[in-house]
Amino acid sequence: MFVGKEDFLLEFYAEVAELFGKPLKFCSTYEIYEALVRLISGKAAIISTETRQRNVKNNEKEVFYFSMEFLIGRLLKNYLLNLDIEDIVRDAMTELGHNMEALYQCERDPGLGNGGLGRLAACFLDSMTFLSVPGMGMGIRYRFGLFKQRLVDGWQTEEPDAWLDNGYPWETPKSDAAVTVKFGGVVDKNYTDGKMSFVYRDYDVVNALPYDVPVVGYGGRTVNTLRLWRALPLHEVFDLNAFNRGEYSAAVKHRNDIEAISTVLYPDDSTPAGKELRLKQEYFFVAAGVGSILKSFKARYGADKLGALPDRVCIHINDTHPALCAPELMRLLLDEEHLEWDEAWSITTRTIAYTNHTVMPEALERWPIDLFRQLLPRIYMIVEEIDRRFRESADRSKPNWHDAMKATAILWDGQVHMANLSVISCFSVNGVSDIHTEILKNETLRDFYALMPQKFSNKTNGVSHRRFLHESNPGLSALISESIGRRWLENAAELSKLAAFKDDAAFLSRLGQVKRENKARLSDFIRRNTAIAVDPDSVFDIQVKRIHAYKRQLLFAFKIMNTYNALKENPKLDVKPHTFIAAGKAAQSYVFAKETIKFICAIADVVNSDPDVCDKMKVVFIENFNVSTAQLIYPAADISEQISTAGKEASGTGNMKFMMNGAVTLGTADGANIELRDSVGDDNIFIFGLKADEVLSYYKNGGYLSYDLVQEDSRLKLLTSQLRNGFYNGYEFNHISDALLRNNDEYFVFKDFDPYVKAWEELVKACGDAPRWAGISLMNIAGAGRFSSDRAITEYANGIWHTRCDIC
Ligand SMILES: *Cc1c(COP(=O)(O)O)cnc(C)c1O
Repeated sequence: MFVGKEDFLLEFYAEVAELFGKPLKFCSTYEIYEALVRLISGKAAIISTETRQRNVKNNEKEVFYFSMEFLIGRLLKNYLLNLDIEDIVRDAMTELGHNMEALYQCERDPGLGNGGLGRLAACFLDSMTFLSVPGMGMGIRYRFGLFKQRLVDGWQTEEPDAWLDNGYPWETPKSDAAVTVKFGGVVDKNYTDGKMSFVYRDYDVVNALPYDVPVVGYGGRTVNTLRLWRALPLHEVFDLNAFNRGEYSAAVKHRNDIEAISTVLYPDDSTPAGKELRLKQEYFFVAAGVGSILKSFKARYGADKLGALPDRVCIHINDTHPALCAPELMRLLLDEEHLEWDEAWSITTRTIAYTNHTVMPEALERWPIDLFRQLLPRIYMIVEEIDRRFRESADRSKPNWHDAMKATAILWDGQVHMANLSVISCFSVNGVSDIHTEILKNETLRDFYALMPQKFSNKTNGVSHRRFLHESNPGLSALISESIGRRWLENAAELSKLAAFKDDAAFLSRLGQVKRENKARLSDFIRRNTAIAVDPDSVFDIQVKRIHAYKRQLLFAFKIMNTYNALKENPKLDVKPHTFIAAGKAAQSYVFAKETIKFICAIADVVNSDPDVCDKMKVVFIENFNVSTAQLIYPAADISEQISTAGKEASGTGNMKFMMNGAVTLGTADGANIELRDSVGDDNIFIFGLKADEVLSYYKNGGYLSYDLVQEDSRLKLLTSQLRNGFYNGYEFNHISDALLRNNDEYFVFKDFDPYVKAWEELVKACGDAPRWAGISLMNIAGAGRFSSDRAITEYANGIWHTRCDIC
């Protein structure tokens, strides 16, 4: 790409001249950053064209990955590393007097997702591109990403994230690829020659304009596209009369109503938001995406070749938010292409595949029929017909057929059940970890599994080891490459070669140094952002993820307080110095989660200001957890807290990121933790607590009383009384207290408390033995190869998509 620094500089000067028309020395740091992005974008565009030509020439099948969320993080450093030009660019910038880190900091981190689900989509794009899987990501270009979290007196406050304010130099609007999307209106049925046809009229039209962001694969062979759709008016409707009357907002109401569709990311990923605008968003990007896919398919293969769509295209839906892909594809095939129902249905159900992300029935997405029908009248008719035909097919000779129908119907109780629509209209349904898929088959979707077992499979999640190890932890990356070569970047399974260094004292000592440097880097960040001084030589025990009752930040908080209480009672207690770190956002309306953040901050206030314990422990809540802060935090962890109630976390991906950075997992037998254990062996992971079937049995049969446990355990007694006796500077934690005592501790925090503390004490003991600890840490890195998203994508490509997928 660039032969050397001089070659790069020549092109860079030209880019600056073209963009700003002034000499480099008059450019601000931001302008230098922008020119750099433009230059790399230009290179990416060339590779992208080559990628497309290669795919057309080879007649490749394509995957379209539909997701409401893409949490892509900053791109510049990642792409320089993927193109292997970071050194050249760094040298050049140093020569120009610019600091590379400062340039990286200029980039906004687009918060176009809530957490794990959105980050998974981004990791998948990285791996698809590296493996040259032909495909594209489809999402929404939200004007405001997920809110910025600021803590005020320990309480979360939300600030809008206007990430586009200075422009986003990676994106390119593609006006020639714009499509229209229709909402509302009425559908007339016409009978002519015994055939029914539908005329859709009086609808509102929205213009969907795509913005393309390049996805640069490692090695620079392939560049794919993330296509983000923006809602705009098709024609400018400006009410001049209203304007002249001084009603300025009425004058632009039309434009504002339409732009609202792509204005905000809903700040919740696990409960139905129940908002009309959210349903509009879902249909908006689905209709835009499916419409554009069909348009380019017809242009390439001809309108008479639609029967071949499933051989050329796979539409993958990330959870049920894009589930309207199925009825929308049906609508296009029926109303615009005039196919018969059976043929359209056959095409649709062989084209779409679905990933389920939740086992909690209360978190499955549903929409009120009234709202749905009024907003999407033609789509509703099609959903009704899919539902009718599915019910018709039910075998009524089976016992309990009525219960099965209730569990599988799309329309029931006045609601549209999006998961049922997805299972019925997709050829593939996958879970995201072994245990999650088993729970889907045996509990959540068991009636479907009995009917159509061949649709179900598992695809355990993975994360990009290039972003979360190579980019985030340059010290470890260099040490690994020096020891086993650089092939692990392309084939993460090669990390297993590190096991050979298990007893190599010199290697283990360098591993310890790298961790120490990462902890010092995070300590600096904490000092700058919270003014708390933490000791990089203490044990870094970390829980970072969305705040949710089932993820049990409370268990972590109680362990910290219990340690504090024990130290207060016995100041001579031999405790290894610890820094407990938490981070994560709470959904704006989730009162319990917000109180949990306040609780952790209140604990931090008590602990950090107490001279009796301050050389033994510190507690920190880091604000505004996002991909950028995540990349600082994972590499600095000694202990990775993965302590969800068993059976609740579908997979988790934070667990994998910690593991590949050499942190040791303290976790429950939940999600992918179980597969982490299979990979590293019982000696290198600390698993505790209730199993998923035990939790289920308590739910079904009872037998747990949190109140009794508290009476029996003096530690829990003290912890619960502190919640309400004014201990925390007078504040009383009523929601937390009620959830644990009045609501009988639905997530078994108290039940798992004792096994959790015991497992942690074991772990801390191991931690005190430096060589043993370094060995455990090393075995975690060596066992992390399986959790690269390259492995996950290879399984999707071979098992579901049947697309090209290069193995290296
Ligand atoms: C990986 C990641 C998550 C998901 O973390 P879990 O521990 O799996 O819940 C959430 N947010 C960000 C920013 C991440 O990078």
